[in-house]
Amino acid sequence: MGTPPESVNRPEQSHSEDFNRSVALGERAFNLLKQLRTPTIPLNYELFYCFTKAVNKEFCAALRKAIEKDSCLTEEAAQRLYQTYLVQPDFSDQVDEVGSRMSEEMSDIMSLIGDASQRADKFGESLKGLNSKLPDVSSPQQLKGMLAELFENTKDMANHNKLLEQRLADSKAQIDELHMKLELTRLENYTDELTGLTTRKRFDQILDLELEQAEETDEPMCLLLTDIDHFKSFNDSHGHQTGDQVLRLVGHTIKTNVKGRDCAARYGGEEFAIVLPKTKLDSAITVAQQLRVAVKSKELVKKSTSESLGHVTLSVGAACYRKGESASDLIERADKLLYAAKAAGRDNVQSETDFPDTNAQTNAA
Ligand code: GH3
Ligand code: MG
Ligand code: MG
Repeated sequence: MGTPPESVNRPEQSHSEDFNRSVALGERAFNLLKQLRTPTIPLNYELFYCFTKAVNKEFCAALRKAIEKDSCLTEEAAQRLYQTYLVQPDFSDQVDEVGSRMSEEMSDIMSLIGDASQRADKFGESLKGLNSKLPDVSSPQQLKGMLAELFENTKDMANHNKLLEQRLADSKAQIDELHMKLELTRLENYTDELTGLTTRKRFDQILDLELEQAEETDEPMCLLLTDIDHFKSFNDSHGHQTGDQVLRLVGHTIKTNVKGRDCAARYGGEEFAIVLPKTKLDSAITVAQQLRVAVKSKELVKKSTSESLGHVTLSVGAACYRKGESASDLIERADKLLYAAKAAGRDNVQSETDFPDTNAQTNAA
């Protein structure tokens, strides 16, 4: 089974596009359509929008090649590109597909095992028959005939067993492959394309699970919400593609600064969330500070020109789970703290004090 092409992050699936960015991308897409005298129908517009967004190299190369080949984008090529890169089967459809192939494979195996057991019964019957005839054997010729029959039956049985072994090995390989496909599908659905961090959808599930655990075990659990400072002006000065590179770098830095059961996700455009199970607030603040310093210390260099673009900073809100509260309450408190960090001048961590009513009380860390 070949690896399916990476699908493109379609415009309507991105929650992160802000107005100006989407207008700029849209204008570029529209101009390209005009230049290439390609009909400005929604399908072509979507393809070119994704092309100008340039998230998926494979897709961009395929679109470029299609245009080079025909000097324009033909309807057929547009449909092919759309089906290959933009139509994203639903996760549950993909699981259903793998599931039904698994069950086909299993029923094949069951019928093979049924055949083998019938054959073994038949072999047993033939042995029994030969055994019952043995006392009546009166000549070496007769015995030779019986032995030849036994030999034939045994050979036939051995051959079928070999075939069965081969078929079972093939089936195991098929099932392993399907299992891997399922795993890849799961990973694709759980991993943010740009940063490699957990998707928000998956993060919400994990947060719920961790909340249940913390509730049951009475262990502490913290949530960090972090957002890149003045990222809009970074994008405006250096372009969105460079901005995307920075998001990748921040994602990587966050990933390398969290461990074990901690889960880091891209929560929105340039906003990240980290759940820290079995972690008290003071340790969560330490992690938050480490993250903040790690991101700030990275000098950003533009890939194409090696030009130094300075640094970006993070503001972080750190909240500790309170027994009985919902995930959305916890997120809301972390969000307020993040907002407080922005208000306190950015590039800092705000956390709850240990006082019970922390809605307004924060302490600069
Ligand atoms: P603040 O310090 O208050 O967070 O200011 P900000 O400019 O970072 O915040 P704001 O929410 O006003 O803007 C967020 C910007 O992040 C808008 C958009 O340009 C950028 N952004 C969001 N998602 C993406 C993305 O996927 N790629 C790129 N390059 N930029 C993004
Ligand atoms: Mg920001
Ligand atoms: Mg933001």
